[in-house]
Amino acid sequence: MALVAVFSDVHGNLEALEATLRDARSHGAERFACLGDIVGYGADPNACCERVRALGGTVVRGNHDHACSHRVSLEWFNPLAAAAVRWTRLQLTAENRDWLRELPYEAELDGKAHLVHGALHDPSHWPYLFDRADAAPHLRRQTLPLCFVGHTHVPIVFARIGKNVLESRLDAFRLEGADGAKVVVNVGSVGQPRDGNPKACYVLFDPDEGLVVPRRVEYDAMPTASKILEAGLPKPLAMRLFLGR
Ligand code: ZN
Repeated sequence: MALVAVFSDVHGNLEALEATLRDARSHGAERFACLGDIVGYGADPNACCERVRALGGTVVRGNHDHACSHRVSLEWFNPLAAAAVRWTRLQLTAENRDWLRELPYEAELDGKAHLVHGALHDPSHWPYLFDRADAAPHLRRQTLPLCFVGHTHVPIVFARIGKNVLESRLDAFRLEGADGAKVVVNVGSVGQPRDGNPKACYVLFDPDEGLVVPRRVEYDAMPTASKILEAGLPKPLAMRLFLGR
């Protein structure tokens, strides 16, 4: 079975998305799974939707995808995010908006892994999995050994072994000899990493081997930042691309 590139939180950053897809294909990825937040923050929402749609892979709905394609209140968004949602709503073509509107909240990859933007215990309200306490209710709902999430833009792994919930940085690992264990992998963010490393982040997943390999991809964020400024989007959204925050 072909290698799957699992990525999340593109956030309208076309340069980071293209660099990620190039990297994934050069490492043998033939399939793609996207964990949502394709739009919001960046200045290329339509191009990013079109690139992701063209991959033909499984895509789930992020909170920004939802907010940009529905008339919902933005009170849960910080001012920067809300400004970007308002701008993105005006930019999206009807076709891309309709596609975002219909994305499922959760999905499965070959019966091997769950795919969800925030967490399985409340997929349509996008809880954040920042720490072990956050991960506990999610892991209780997880039925497959593996789940991939995004949303926090911070790559990390939580595992439930017996009654214990453990936390680890995201390094390459193979799911084997872990009978009954449940593992949730945050794949980080392609378009707006927040772990202090500005390189795009995603994982390669081998469903046959149970192998998960994180990747970081360098790209030129200058054109991305320039487009954000030219669009009149909030300036910190351009700046943070260089800081990884
Ligand atoms: Zn996001």
